[in-house]
This record gives sequence, C-alpha cells and structure tokens, in this order.
Amino acid sequence: MLQERRVYDNRRPVLGVVVPCYNEAEVLARTHTRLTRVLEGLTGFEYELIYVDDGSSDGTWAVINSLAGERCSVRGLRLSRNFGHQAACLAGLRESVGDAVVVIDADLQDPPELIPELAALWRDGWSVVSARRRSRDGETLFKRASAYAFYRLLNSLSDHSLALDTGDFRLVDRELVALLTGVPDKNLYLRGAVSWFGLPETSVTYDRDARQAGESKYTLRKMLALSRRGLLAGSVAPLRLSTYVGTAVLTGGCAAALMQRNARLLARPGAFGAHAIALGVVGEYLHAVFRQVQGRPDYVVQDRLGCADRPATVTSAPPSRQSRKERVAL
Ligand code: UDP
Ligand code: MG
Repeated sequence: MLQERRVYDNRRPVLGVVVPCYNEAEVLARTHTRLTRVLEGLTGFEYELIYVDDGSSDGTWAVINSLAGERCSVRGLRLSRNFGHQAACLAGLRESVGDAVVVIDADLQDPPELIPELAALWRDGWSVVSARRRSRDGETLFKRASAYAFYRLLNSLSDHSLALDTGDFRLVDRELVALLTGVPDKNLYLRGAVSWFGLPETSVTYDRDARQAGESKYTLRKMLALSRRGLLAGSVAPLRLSTYVGTAVLTGGCAAALMQRNARLLARPGAFGAHAIALGVVGEYLHAVFRQVQGRPDYVVQDRLGCADRPATVTSAPPSRQSRKERVAL
C-alpha cells in the first residue's frame, strides 16, 4: 500500500530537473522558457534545474551560462567530452539535491507540461513515475518500429519486468537516485536499472512531440550501443545462448545416431555441442563476475514493521541533504 509522502522539516520538497544536452544550442532557450513556466507554477515545490552539457561543440555551454546567470535555481554542468546520454543523465542525478528528480530531454520531445502530473504521483507515494509514449511524432518508421520491438524483446529476456515504451523521461525519488548513483556499474542502463530496484513504480502516457530544432543526436551507432548495454545489463540470455544451442545440437546428434544406429553421426554435432556447452559454462562464470562488478545491492527493503523507533518505510525517511562530496562517495 502506498503512503503519501511526508513534508520534511516544514520545508517544501525540492524537485530536481536534469536536462542532458548535446549540441542543443538551437533549442535550449525555448526549452528553458517552457520548463521555467511549468516549474514556477508548480505549487508546493522548490525546484532546481540542471543542464548537463555532454561535451557539445556548438554554443550549448554559452546558452547554459546565460540561463544559469538568471536565477540561482538554474545550474550548469559541463562534461569534458561527449560521454553519451546515459553518462550525462547520471552526472545530473549525482549533482541534484532534489527530493525527487525528473530527467527530461532537451529537444522538447518530452513535454515539460507533464511534470506536475509526475510530481503529483510522487506525492502520492510512487518512487518511479515513468512517462510512457503513446505516439511518437516526427520519428522515422525505422526508429518507431525498432524501439517498439526492442523494448518488448528486452522485457521478455530481462531478469525483471521493465516499463515498456519509455525512454529516460521519468521522475525518480531521492532514495532511488541514491541507489542508482551508488552502484559502481560502469555500463548503467538507467531505464532498466530503475525497475530492477523494485520500488513502487507507475507511469503516465503522453504523445511524444517532434524535435523542436536540430537533429537527433542518437546516431545508429549510439542506438545500437544503448541497446547492447540494455541487453547485457538486464539479461543473462545472450550468455546462455551458447549452452542452449550446444545442448540442442548435442541432443539432436545423439538422437540421429541412435535412430540410424550409426555412432559416427555423433562426431560433428558432438564436438560442436561439447564446445558450445563449455563456452556456456565459461559464460556462467563471466555472468557471476559481471553481476559482482555491477555492485547492485542484494535486496532493497521497502517496508519494515515493528515497534522499534525506526522509520516505517525507507521511502518515508527524511531525505538527506548531503554535501556534494558526500553524495559522490555514496
Ligand atoms: N544527448 C546527450 N548526449 C549524447 C546524445 C544525446 O546528452 O551523446 C541528449 C540530447 O541532447 C537530448 C537527449 O539526450 O537531450 C536525447 O537525444 P536525442 O533527442 O538526440 O535522441 P532521440 O530523441 O532522437 O532518440
Ligand atoms: Mg529527441
């Protein structure tokens, strides 16, 4: 059962908004106008707006500079080179002190006007509120079809269930921000990892607009890299493939040899199957090492019952207002 989120220390909760930007100079001023209009009108929240420049080569950083000069609630973070969208989101999440943090694209494909709805659901007690795409305006058939198929493939192969048709436009609670930024995973696939922790998750649907200026920064290469990361981080299936194929070939070879009463028929499938199974065994060890390196917690406690003088739920514990240094060391 969800618990409505408490207001701590008689202060208004802070809503952090992280905007990863890679060569978005053309659109950023427009994005900022729409974002601030929404955030200024958001009653019951303080806000902080963090633009992360992911190594842009156009005037993005200059635009962020001028926006950050206007108000203290606007900050900028510049990465030394283009580390990629996931790294930029992670940098923003680490930087944010929000009680809840929204990640939103810079190109206005994700409407800022949806943020109050995400914030209201957080107030109701949800730890993750994803924005699910109902339609995708202005995107190629290839992009829509490949994204549709990929999310379903990943969900069916994944060790845990994932929110379908969602990118990184979502709100996450402070507790989850700490978990996400605390794991030493160097291949973090954010949209998969948020579900892995199993905290209360819901979604709202929206119609995704077309990009308001410039071109997609997700080249085919970057899309493939992200999909690969998602598959490897969330599923052991690719590593097990070798064991499955080896076992099938070996079994087929045995059956053929028995039916034909000819042991020689087993020679080739036997050798192939044994090799593939041996590779699969190595894969299992690799998987064990990979999980260890990912450093995810063994479990996440959601509720705790009892009469001890402790917070009843981890999500209702007062959010810590740690210094930047402390947070990075989490
Ligand atoms: N982005 C980024 N680093 C990259 C690529 C993209 O920070 O290497 C940002 C980009 O500026 C945008 C968001 O990630 O805010 C999504 O990128 P884009 O809109 O180009 O992707 P698409 O919507 O076409 O999938
Ligand atoms: Mg986009």
